[in-house]
Amino acid sequence: MSDRLKEACGVFAVHGNGFEAARLTYHGLWALQHRGQESSGIAASDGTSIRVHKGQGLVAHVYSEPTLAGLPGHLAIGHNRYSTSGGPSGIHAQPVLKAGAGFELAFAHNGNLPSFHRLKRMLAAHRIDTDGKNDSECMAEAIALFLSEGKSLEEAIVEVYPLFTGVFSFVAMTRDSLAAVKDRCGIRPLAIGKLDESCHVISSETCALDTVGASFVREIEPGEMVVVDGDGPRWTRIVEGRPRLDVFELVYFARPDSILAGRRVNEVRRKLGTQLAAEWRADADLVVPVPDSAIPSALGYASATGIPFDNGLIKNRYIHRTFIRPDPHLRRWGVRMKLNPLPEAVAGKRVVLIDDSIVRGTTVAEIIRIIRRAGAREVHVGIASPPVVFPDFYGIDTPLQEELIAFRMGDNGILEHIGADSLHYLSRDGLIRAVGVPEEQLCTSIFTGDYPIDIGERASKVSGLPRRPRKPKAASGGL
Ligand code: AMP
Repeated sequence: MSDRLKEACGVFAVHGNGFEAARLTYHGLWALQHRGQESSGIAASDGTSIRVHKGQGLVAHVYSEPTLAGLPGHLAIGHNRYSTSGGPSGIHAQPVLKAGAGFELAFAHNGNLPSFHRLKRMLAAHRIDTDGKNDSECMAEAIALFLSEGKSLEEAIVEVYPLFTGVFSFVAMTRDSLAAVKDRCGIRPLAIGKLDESCHVISSETCALDTVGASFVREIEPGEMVVVDGDGPRWTRIVEGRPRLDVFELVYFARPDSILAGRRVNEVRRKLGTQLAAEWRADADLVVPVPDSAIPSALGYASATGIPFDNGLIKNRYIHRTFIRPDPHLRRWGVRMKLNPLPEAVAGKRVVLIDDSIVRGTTVAEIIRIIRRAGAREVHVGIASPPVVFPDFYGIDTPLQEELIAFRMGDNGILEHIGADSLHYLSRDGLIRAVGVPEEQLCTSIFTGDYPIDIGERASKVSGLPRRPRKPKAASGGL
């Protein structure tokens, strides 16, 4: 198992006559690097065949001028991966490519199917081998199966959609057609933009639309599919949507310059800090953010409390998780490689350290040690989200429940473990108020155990799940 938590993946796609789609996709993937750093891949079509290039590591390492020149065409999809199932090996890098009589398919998935027995059974019934294949590869097999029967990309996706029992925001392409699809809850983001009337761009986050100079058109809705080919975009509502965007996208994952659920993420994070200040005002001299994700919340907290804000920690932007090995000693060392304190800022001060979340508790414990060693007199910790007590099965893969510090111990235990003078989490109501989206339209599963999409057999490994009224089989047995 990887030593670190894992992130949602990122997908990007372009359809534009006269455009170099792979090159635009490459720039889009740069902007989505934060969503996955393990591998990256681009598939491109010039209308006659699909070529793919993928490799392990960061976007900067995977592509070169010759590899991009080898991906000609007006149509491309791309993917940055952080493994959520099937382990970290490079063999699962995406896009997945499938070819059969008369068709080629490339497929790139953000999300996770917690259980995909029905999908595997259907494939087995058609004598398609699923051994060693992860959820995304099985999804691609299923679409390919219907393409091989002569169906169009849209028809094939509509056909297999009910078997995709989980979380997905995916892009798929044939030689001439691009599709982008969301699950019925829209747990992971996906948006469409355009460069001009003939060039459409799909991206996990809107920040990557900005990077390639595309204007944001709208978010794809839960349960919806958009298909782009020579005739421009066509929208299909596959199932009725029940929006449940993952609130953790707003708390931590997404880039602050993206728009999610109609809100600028930076603004939401600032409000999380303001709300934390309304719930708890520290007796302190200085607010210090854990860079980068907690900076907007720390600014919100500082301006609401009037406590001065300063950078007490400097982040080395060039250290990536991928390089950190799963040894407890090296994990601590990893935090120190990434963050260095500014003693002049913190020495002799009562510091309020603001972070977005605590998951295992390793990071914050080490940061507190670092700040104390730099001379801080007191360290009070404010967390801009509630305690994480339930694991994730929807594509961010926070660890086993027993590894979650707030599941293992109560507030006093955590306080002692991390070595802070005091610890304050944002309340659940405060989270919802700051986000400004009704709770029933958010996925809060890691905080509440309310999993809007069936987690199948994984439920037996989770303690403390809230009791839910039994649903009729058709409603809970997949999409
Ligand atoms: P830890 O408590 O040591 O597990 O680390 C939690 C910190 O890692 C938080 O402060 C976040 O900034 C960051 N984080 C939260 N969730 C994830 C995730 N799924 N993948 C990577 N980093 C995360």
